[in-house]
Amino acid sequence: MSDYKLFINGEYTEAASGETFPTTNPATGAKIGDVAKAGKEDAVKAMEAARKAFDEGPWPKMSGKERAEKVRRIAELIGQKSAQFAEMESKDSGGTMRKAQLADVNGAIEAYNWYATCAEGEDTEALPGSPFPPSENYIRYEPYGVTTGIIPFNFPFIMAAWKIAPSIAAGNTCVIKPASLTSITALMLGEVMQEAEIPPGVVNIIAGPGATAGEELAVNPMVDKTAFTGSTEVGKRIMQLASGTVKAVTLELGGKSANIVLPDADLDVAAAGVLFGTFMHNGQVCESGTRALVHRSVYDEFIGMLAERANKMVIGDPLDFATDLGPLVSRSQVETVERYVALGREEVGEPICGGSKPDNLAEGLDRDAFYLPTIFAGVPNSAKIAQEEIFGPVLCVIPFDSDEEAVAIANDSIYGLGGGVWSTDIDRAKKVAHGMQTGTVWINDYHLLSSQRPFGGYKQSGIGRELGIQGYNAYRQIKHVHVNPQTDRGGHMHYAMLSSAL
Ligand code: NAP
Ligand code: MG
Repeated sequence: MSDYKLFINGEYTEAASGETFPTTNPATGAKIGDVAKAGKEDAVKAMEAARKAFDEGPWPKMSGKERAEKVRRIAELIGQKSAQFAEMESKDSGGTMRKAQLADVNGAIEAYNWYATCAEGEDTEALPGSPFPPSENYIRYEPYGVTTGIIPFNFPFIMAAWKIAPSIAAGNTCVIKPASLTSITALMLGEVMQEAEIPPGVVNIIAGPGATAGEELAVNPMVDKTAFTGSTEVGKRIMQLASGTVKAVTLELGGKSANIVLPDADLDVAAAGVLFGTFMHNGQVCESGTRALVHRSVYDEFIGMLAERANKMVIGDPLDFATDLGPLVSRSQVETVERYVALGREEVGEPICGGSKPDNLAEGLDRDAFYLPTIFAGVPNSAKIAQEEIFGPVLCVIPFDSDEEAVAIANDSIYGLGGGVWSTDIDRAKKVAHGMQTGTVWINDYHLLSSQRPFGGYKQSGIGRELGIQGYNAYRQIKHVHVNPQTDRGGHMHYAMLSSAL
């Protein structure tokens, strides 16, 4: 028996195989509970439920306003349970309570409300008519059908919202699979769907291995659109799997974003912003600004400020509101960071701070899951630690001499997801921002995403956008309707293109 079950066709259920897998709190290593382990068979069941709910159920036939009401109800119910969701998000992922409350739960509520607003909007749009034959032309936005969403370990609750809310607001039905390391809060949403009276089959949530349950969600012909957030490597595989039946695909992938500090920046704010941009959630954020590009004239002063402040961050129990940095998501993620730090030592020498697991952690915490915020200075952009996504608390600082050079270094990456520019001259900062090949640039800020503004990647950081009206439209087909109001021969002279004998 599992403690956390799959949510299929409106009901909680065990996996067909009866198998489970444990999920743990990385801060202590303690087991939180057993999760039902979906395999291919369960994925198919969930997709069948979604298919039936779309083809025969009331959901796609409801008006946008009716659906919006239901989606807003989901937001309201999450609000009522926000403390429970935040605590479990923090425990299961190792993220701090501060982040869970301020970003995860609030961000998810914002997303459901935003897509409800989208659903209240028009689903037709007039197009310019043609003079001959005179015609009426318009677009009708329609749901795709069944959408699947596969999400990463780092922001399970908010990522579930980003996949469920636009799908169902637009009239689709969906199947969601959270990452195996952090499945619980997504599975807990089933109860919310029941209370919000979302019809059975409209939202299905399964946990299980990517290689079996996940692949089925990307390859199965029952699916019309698949949305994946995770590593670039798995994203490429999803694209291949989806190509068999030419599914619509949205990919939100990895990053190695640049934070550019121009010489006229307010260094106090920029140093805080660069640290925030890198070490939030221990660098396990896709848009993390893990390359700081710093003008040579302020370079020495700036790296001193970074190291001094990084050393002051409080590392400990993520459930404690005084904690800045909790554990990484798993010991294995720490091992990855250790490998990259060893490589960094070979490539550029000793880091200016961090470079090991922390000492003096409170009793009961698993030291092997923690890592100190680590900064390498004087890093050539060609170094592997500056090119590859580490997904941990490691910052590379790279000097530059001109704005043009900063842009060129920023763009010398296979990725293009986020980025920052720090300057007191906003026009100059905008010019730099416009040269960067990336989906989001913050000027004198970082990490601030909003449901109302599109988010996504250039280059190997992804395809398509989530959030904003663009993210809503990613869940809607565009149908062009052409109406010829002249029903007699006079309105059909263009048939002569083929033959006058018609
Ligand atoms: P991941 O290893 O790519 O896994 C992501 C999800 O895909 C998980 O649910 C995983 O399931 C599943 N999966 C793995 N192999 C699969 C396969 N062959 N077919 C179908 N599904 C499969 O990524 P992660 O380690 O969880 O997350 C970190 C990555 O996500 C980073 O690269 C980060 O940059 C990226 N990310 C991007 C964004 C964005 O918006 N651009 C946001 C957050 C994170 P299992 O857990 O069972 O393996
Ligand atoms: Mg866990």
